[in-house]
Amino acid sequence: MKINKVKGTYDVLPSESIKWQKLEQFLKRILTNYNYEEIRTPIFEYSEVFHRDSEMSDMVTKETYNFLDRGNRNITLRPEGTAGVIRAFVENKMYVDGFNKLFYIGPNFRYERPQKGRYRQFYQFGVEAIGSIDPLLDAEVIILGYHIMNELKLDNILVKINTLGDDKSKLVYEDELRKHFMPHKAELCKDCQERIDKNPLRILDCKIDMHHEAVINAPTPYDFLTGEAKTHFEKVVEELDKANVPYEINKRLVRGLDYYSHTVFEIDAKIEGFGAQNTLLGGGRYEKLVEELGGPKTSAVGFASGMERLLYAIEIENKDFFKAKAIDAFLLTLDENSKNYQTKLLYDLRSEDLKVDAMYIERSFRSALKFALNQNPKYLLILGENELKNNSIQVKDTKTEKQEEVLLKDLINYLKEEK
Ligand code: AMP
Repeated sequence: MKINKVKGTYDVLPSESIKWQKLEQFLKRILTNYNYEEIRTPIFEYSEVFHRDSEMSDMVTKETYNFLDRGNRNITLRPEGTAGVIRAFVENKMYVDGFNKLFYIGPNFRYERPQKGRYRQFYQFGVEAIGSIDPLLDAEVIILGYHIMNELKLDNILVKINTLGDDKSKLVYEDELRKHFMPHKAELCKDCQERIDKNPLRILDCKIDMHHEAVINAPTPYDFLTGEAKTHFEKVVEELDKANVPYEINKRLVRGLDYYSHTVFEIDAKIEGFGAQNTLLGGGRYEKLVEELGGPKTSAVGFASGMERLLYAIEIENKDFFKAKAIDAFLLTLDENSKNYQTKLLYDLRSEDLKVDAMYIERSFRSALKFALNQNPKYLLILGENELKNNSIQVKDTKTEKQEEVLLKDLINYLKEEK
């Protein structure tokens, strides 16, 4: 019986997984340079970690994979990274350190309508800087996101920032939104009718009502900021200016999760072929989540970025990123006798930290050569009767096509010298 993959999932075959590895290595280098440390949390958690009373986003209320395990516990596959990280942060009392900078890379699960750039299992990398309200940290996190896109040579991006204000400003703003939407209640979708009472901010990014005049003309958080919230945001903006990081203030940006306050931001791709799924990265400051998950009052700021979209953007904008040499050398033996030397030669080269491989299937020389070149080796190593007689091997640079006969005893040095 042939069974296919589940809708909204995909396989990463070797030709693609090499790209994933490159991207992951690249990200880990930059994240580590900013002194973020990796945290790995489970892909499933008790449902309450995500299904909190305060969280009304579609992502959590409608898109999570929930199930009862065999012990009748309510379990949810994580739809996002932050809540699990904060659960672990609290459980492991990481707050005693005062301040933590964490990053994660891993899969999330959302029951959404699959389309290009939108999957039911997808990878995110993200950061959480936990334990400080310093606006310089909001700026650092935004700059880190920008830095990553910039170093990936994604030129056609747009950094959008906004502030939702602190909790005090948010309460006033939410009341204003209620007053604003009440007269239009009957015209809004069923969900939004409920949102007026429970969480009016969510109406602003409703996919159904997004073109309704009342949504378009809704007041923005900016008009209701407390002095403190305003000063915080101004400082973030000032720091971005000092660092020459380009951005646009978008007063309508609210982001999809309910735990945000103060700064929110997004990096969008203005890249052809992206369509509606053009957000590469999104994040913001959150002030209540640590407390909600049983920890002390703690302010934090972070972002998450979708890696499938990032790979797709790199594919369009910076193909060279993936083009690096795949292996150092590929060995072709010309007859049975030379093949007897293959295993030992490979072992010797690999012991010297060289990435090498050889043919394991019977092929004509022509098709063996094609197979070898497909592995993208820097060198071809060719061993035949004549070479064996001379204790040597032919070494061909696949780029310059220059070929030299090298003594076997000099081979390691030769390959390493040129690396
Ligand atoms: P969010 O966690 O919804 O703020 O999303 C953060 C980033 O994750 C987005 O900007 C996307 O790049 C990515 N993302 C979110 N949902 C999906 C999905 N279903 N499939 C692929 N990428 C996604």
